Amino acid sequence: MQENKMGIELDPCCGCAACAVCCPTKAITMKMDEEGFLYPKISLDDCIGCKRCISICPLKENKIKKDITQTLAYGVKHKQNKVRILSRSGGAFTAFSDVILAMGGVIYGACWEQELGKVIHRRVVSKEERDQLRGSKYLQSDISGCYHWIRTDLEEGRKVLFTGTGCQIAAVDSFLGKDYENLYLCDIICHGVPSSLVFEEYQNFLVDLFEEKIKRYQFRDKEAFGWKANIESFQIKNKKKYSNLFSKIYQTDCIQRPYCYECQYASIERRSDITIGDFWGIDSIMKKNMDNKGMSIVLIHTKKGLNLFHQILSDVEFLDCSKEDYLQPQLKHPCIKPSNREDFWRLYKEVGVSGIVKIMPGGVLGAKYRVYTKLIVGRLKKCVGGLSQTLKKVRKEMG
Ligand SMILES: Cc1cc2nc3c(=O)[nH]c(=O)nc-3n(C[C@H](O)[C@H](O)[C@H](O)COP(=O)(O)OP(=O)(O)OC[C@H]3O[C@@H](n4cnc5c(N)ncnc54)[C@H](O)[C@@H]3O)c2cc1C
Ligand code: SF4
Ligand code: SF4
Ligand code: SF4
Repeated sequence: MQENKMGIELDPCCGCAACAVCCPTKAITMKMDEEGFLYPKISLDDCIGCKRCISICPLKENKIKKDITQTLAYGVKHKQNKVRILSRSGGAFTAFSDVILAMGGVIYGACWEQELGKVIHRRVVSKEERDQLRGSKYLQSDISGCYHWIRTDLEEGRKVLFTGTGCQIAAVDSFLGKDYENLYLCDIICHGVPSSLVFEEYQNFLVDLFEEKIKRYQFRDKEAFGWKANIESFQIKNKKKYSNLFSKIYQTDCIQRPYCYECQYASIERRSDITIGDFWGIDSIMKKNMDNKGMSIVLIHTKKGLNLFHQILSDVEFLDCSKEDYLQPQLKHPCIKPSNREDFWRLYKEVGVSGIVKIMPGGVLGAKYRVYTKLIVGRLKKCVGGLSQTLKKVRKEMG
């Protein structure tokens, strides 16, 4: 990354912006790189060499919070089906945030910005606002505006539930620099954040395809296809359309932030009080009664987390489970960097998202898209390996 005249090196980097927020001379700004990820850039003229940016960086040290002998694990589903439909997994986030709100506390979580394509962490104090935080947004959320608010809320005695990816939890913890009894840290199991550049171009592709502005983008809409389907939805002129194209690009693992391939939070041991995720192993232990509306896995790491868990029990159904039941790859190791990641980006730079989606099968955009799928040569994952052949076909398709 960047080393300045003072010997300041900010690498590796998860993009949390804690260094920029803490720099006493505002010498650091977050700038987008050519893959669409934000990184700190130091103005050499403004830097005084205090090294605060280095000491605050959460990636330098992983401080596990665990104060119970063994991580506890529960399958959890919210009792209200409507909540589960609107949530990514089983609605655990809604249950936890309801408890904090009922105590007059505040919630921090990821929310779409007005401008579709940007995700930002917001501070909310009501259920109506909290509902905006529901659902997984497969983009990196900007938490830079939250750090000082969180400290103020905590110092003024409010209960705070901060939710986010493992690296965001680490960043908040590192920024605060001490433990607060009234702070609850809840992270999500995370397969990595994708490039916002690719997503922005994907949206432009949809706008060109439908010749209309798109609204209300949802990354994993369960309503029509269920929990396991991985279908995105968006609205065009009040009509809902579905697609799985962005998910397919994401699933190639080629568009994740480079640090995500080294992520130190892809483990059961966490810096949070609670971890929530999709309970993918549930079918093997509950053969009956699974309705494809979603189930959360909830991991409890601390006494504080356990106390909060006890308070959600009237709102959820839950079952005890063992490591064998819930262990998914993301709790064992970071997502694996594909050997053809560079080929992908070369291909992307040449043909863009519109070229890439034309070589991907199985999209469900509708008739117009299916015309393209007839010309399809195979899954993207395989295609990016045979780059020159793929490019030839893409160019032919694009005329
Ligand atoms: C980038 C990403 C990768 C994921 N990878 C996995 C995975 O590998 N395995 C797995 O089991 N689950 C994964 N998930 C899903 C995650 O586990 C669920 O979001 C979580 O279980 C919450 O579901 P819920 O039903 O409790 O509540 P919901 O209401 O759906 O929860 C929303 C919660 O997710 C947070 N959130 C949403 N988008 C973001 C974001 N972009 N950045 C930070 N926080 C966000 C919100 O702040 C809120 O706390 C991923 C989610 C994201 C955003
Ligand atoms: S503090 Fe955050 S943004 Fe700054 S270098 Fe460390 S990880 Fe990157
Ligand atoms: S060394 Fe100090 S002044 Fe320089 S960029 Fe880091 S925090 Fe800012
Ligand atoms: S994979 Fe790790 S580094 Fe990447 S966003 Fe998720 S928690 Fe952060």
